[in-house]
Amino acid sequence: MSESRAGLDQARSAVLDTVPEGLFIGGEWRDAAGGGSFSVEDPATQETLTQVADGQADDAKAALDAAVDAGPAWAATPPRERGEILRRAWALMLEHSEDLALLMTLEMGKSVAESKAEVAYGAEFFRWFAEEAVRVEGRFARSPAGSERLLTMKQPVGPCLLITPWNFPLAMGTRKIGPAIAAGCTMVLKPAQLTPLTSLRLAQLLTEAGLPDGVLNVVPSSSAGKTVGPLMSDPRLRKMSFTGSTEVGQMLMEQASKNLLRVSMELGGNAPFLVFADADLDAAVDGAVIAKMRNNGESCVAANRFHVAAAVAEDFAGRLAERLGAMRVGHGAEDGVQVGPLINEEQRGKVEELVADAVDTGAKALTGGSRPDGRGYFYPPTVLAGVESEARILREEVFGPVAPVTTFESEEEAVAQANATEYGLVAYVYTSDLKRALRVVEGIETGMVGLNRGLVSNAAAPFGGVKHSGFGREGGTEGIDEYLSTKYVAIDM
Ligand code: NAP
Repeated sequence: MSESRAGLDQARSAVLDTVPEGLFIGGEWRDAAGGGSFSVEDPATQETLTQVADGQADDAKAALDAAVDAGPAWAATPPRERGEILRRAWALMLEHSEDLALLMTLEMGKSVAESKAEVAYGAEFFRWFAEEAVRVEGRFARSPAGSERLLTMKQPVGPCLLITPWNFPLAMGTRKIGPAIAAGCTMVLKPAQLTPLTSLRLAQLLTEAGLPDGVLNVVPSSSAGKTVGPLMSDPRLRKMSFTGSTEVGQMLMEQASKNLLRVSMELGGNAPFLVFADADLDAAVDGAVIAKMRNNGESCVAANRFHVAAAVAEDFAGRLAERLGAMRVGHGAEDGVQVGPLINEEQRGKVEELVADAVDTGAKALTGGSRPDGRGYFYPPTVLAGVESEARILREEVFGPVAPVTTFESEEEAVAQANATEYGLVAYVYTSDLKRALRVVEGIETGMVGLNRGLVSNAAAPFGGVKHSGFGREGGTEGIDEYLSTKYVAIDM
């Protein structure tokens, strides 16, 4: 065994030893009601990392019971105290950044450098909402007729169900937990089956930071629908916040309608990356590498398709292929690795299918384009040039390290191509013409735009989409509103 492999095995065992394997309900770690467990796999080796208690409907109900019991005292806790718990949790996450990053890499696959960036990003939601907790305000006004006084106040919506995906195992949780804690809500978190470990470790850190029992309950499960389905119709639940695929989001919306739950939906994307002929091409290529390759391309805000002015398309595609082709692929915990495996075989199969379809309809792979031999769900960074408009990859979310490049002739065509999708999460625009930039930004149907920038995520900004990418915002001053209700009091004078 090589020295680095032995070192990695040792670090892996040490970090896995820190993770509780039970359900976290009412401040206690417990076995699942049925006594069952499910395994969590390392996508780079296909080896089992550990077993985790497999939550069932009875466990989800017990978690909601705990959240409901903890609700009134938590809502009455002074905002400053809630904020200070978040602030301590932020500091603890940074203190444990190395371990948290390795844990995330083990269960999700991305490089440790990417995982560390997620720890910093994910923790930032706690610092941000620690500051927002003390800024929840109401209004007082005299009625236009002068005969009444109008008082509005903001109150926590009540017990929340939070459902998160596997691609950002930490940040997708903290974007919801942070504002819920700040607003005074209690919650049940159902992390993704593929990546439950980071959430369990996070619950432990929040407890260490002083979070009272029952405020956060965590129920991993291998049967999401059966486990959380009954909660959706429980009248005590008041809010559901979901991050994941549009298909599952649509189904959950239907369920939520019966109970008239407040709903936030962070769904799929199909981000266009537009490069105009007047753009700084070096900056556009740098931005494209980030927008495409962050998180192995498994991000809802990943650039899904590159629309490039015909005059510079060949140059752009060639330079992008050179950069992506030079990236080092391997186990995310190994030194110098930039691109880890995809999450599982299903995801790799989908990427392969979309690449094959693009090549069949006339595209050419400038780099990558086929899976390597061996264990792990690896797929190389790939650039496809000359992608035709009928290729599925331009319409479907690829969720992998593949960059299809297609061309446009005019600004109108560029905007039309960008909007030719049911999704509307984010778009990237590269141009050095200010008026064009503003015209294009105004014409694009998305919730976010990266203007001459390949990264938009920021805890201080409202993250979210329009159209089939969902609604509701996470982060920014808007993020806490998702967890607050407005009460109006009419006062007679
Ligand atoms: P997914 O299949 O929709 O799963 C998301 C979560 O929903 C998981 O926890 C999953 O549990 C759970 N779930 C699945 N079926 C359910 C059901 N019937 N009832 C209740 N919960 C259910 O999505 P994913 O594959 O994990 O994540 C990838 C998708 O998320 C992509 O489309 C991506 O664009 C989107 N995403 C969006 C954002 C954003 O902010 N807009 C951010 C990140 C990701 P299991 O794990 O057990 O299946």
